[in-house]
Amino acid sequence: MSKKIGMIGWRGMVGSVLIQRMQEENDFAGLDATFFSTSQVGEPGPALGGAPKPLQDAYDVEALTDKDVIVTCQGGDYTQQMHPQLRAAGWHGFWIDAASALRMEPTSVIVLDPVNRHVIDRALERGCKDFIGGNCTVSLMLLAIHGLIERGWVEWITSMTYQSASGAGAAQMKELVLQMAEIGQRAGTGAADARMPVLDVEKSVTDLLQSADLTINQFGAPLAASLIPWIDRAMENGQTREEWKGQAEANKILEQDPPLPIDGQCVRVGAMRCHSQGLTIKMKQDIPLPDIEAAIRSANQWVRWVPNTKEDTLQQLTPAAISGQLDIAIGRVRKMTLGPEYITAFTVGDQLLWGAAEPVRRILQIVLNA
Ligand code: NAP
Repeated sequence: MSKKIGMIGWRGMVGSVLIQRMQEENDFAGLDATFFSTSQVGEPGPALGGAPKPLQDAYDVEALTDKDVIVTCQGGDYTQQMHPQLRAAGWHGFWIDAASALRMEPTSVIVLDPVNRHVIDRALERGCKDFIGGNCTVSLMLLAIHGLIERGWVEWITSMTYQSASGAGAAQMKELVLQMAEIGQRAGTGAADARMPVLDVEKSVTDLLQSADLTINQFGAPLAASLIPWIDRAMENGQTREEWKGQAEANKILEQDPPLPIDGQCVRVGAMRCHSQGLTIKMKQDIPLPDIEAAIRSANQWVRWVPNTKEDTLQQLTPAAISGQLDIAIGRVRKMTLGPEYITAFTVGDQLLWGAAEPVRRILQIVLNA
């Protein structure tokens, strides 16, 4: 009999990418999928080959507890409201979630199966039912350098991030493009005019960035032609929560004990949907670069090694090049002048794919086949 799946949050940014990937991989074949909404009950659901069915109420406990698996990309508030109600109603189905709300619960596993399939399998054996997608930046970093971590070579990591607008949400992504358009309108003619002094062009841009005319409703500051070195809320120790997640979530994903120290600065930049990270990695010993390259390359089928040349970097190691792909590019790898145990690397990945939807899509396949 077909497994009954409830899909919530399917029309949001992460949910849309998830549906797209499930269609590409023919994942809906043999599934009895029901689509829910918090705001569009009764409206037509997605057309997946047949006639669209009306959307069901995402707050209907009876309809939800009828499902074998619930997949939600709806957000943390929804999770916090509905997950306890369903469990209290005696529902024992699988809860698969893109939101962060349940990630650090002792009863849940953060999923990134190319890295922690053994953790997932052990959890399934002991009856775990809550499987949660990880923070995008953490997942992308682990996929890129898992080859070094799994060999026990890494003493600590610093990650300086360059995170795209999509990680902040759909409205923020649109605001970035709007800011670019507003800057283009103000200074575009001057930039195209070879006779216009460059400092005049720069001044018209800077004047706009520093005026009340630029649209900053979502970000609270200009992102286009600028950056924002703050993501998520403040923690008591001076980190942002995004920075805190680096060590907390990575070690939970890896079930690493003692924990691997990871810290850095998380910065929002004007990329669309790819997160980049500049890594400093302190190795426990002096490992030759060819061994480092071999370890990184062999970790999983998505990691893509980029030679440390200008040409390769410009062609293969930018958000523009990687956007929309499952590849996790890693390049600029070299020993640092700080000492032979210090290496640096730069990595880029699509945060809506491996950063959000793909681990969720894959854990659905894993639990369906468990
Ligand atoms: P989102 O785009 O804001 O979508 C969430 C929900 O908003 C939709 O499912 C939809 O629910 C409702 N909605 C209202 N107006 C909409 C509109 N015009 N278009 C589409 N949907 C609309 O949220 P998201 O960025 O996908 O994030 C979902 C969850 O995943 C969050 O918990 C987030 O933290 C987590 N996550 C996000 C990322 C990321 O990169 N963005 C990465 C990892 C995890 P109804 O149909 O019920 O109205």
